[in-house]
Amino acid sequence: MALTITAECINCDVCEPVCPNQAISMGPDFYQIDPARCTECVGHYDQPQCVELCPVQCIPVHPQHIEDRASLERKYRRLTAASSPCGA
Ligand code: SF4
Ligand code: SF4
Repeated sequence: MALTITAECINCDVCEPVCPNQAISMGPDFYQIDPARCTECVGHYDQPQCVELCPVQCIPVHPQHIEDRASLERKYRRLTAASSPCGA
């Protein structure tokens, strides 16, 4: 599942640097998550790092991006391959 950030976000800047997939960026009013890059931290960590650290718990599952673990692992491999210099 990709996650999403709600309007409860207080722009504390904690989550953006901990995302291993560079999926978090500042949006027009508060931080946002690119669902194409969020693997719920699958491939990197046991728990979603942004959820672990968010002080106001405003990062639920994105209702339009429900994915099973196999899909998240495929996304992780795609992202890893795309960021590898040799494309492997
Ligand atoms: S769950 Fe992981 S991959 Fe998804 S936005 Fe949060 S830190 Fe990034
Ligand atoms: S950790 Fe939570 S409150 Fe802080 S910027 Fe990220 S989503 Fe917003």
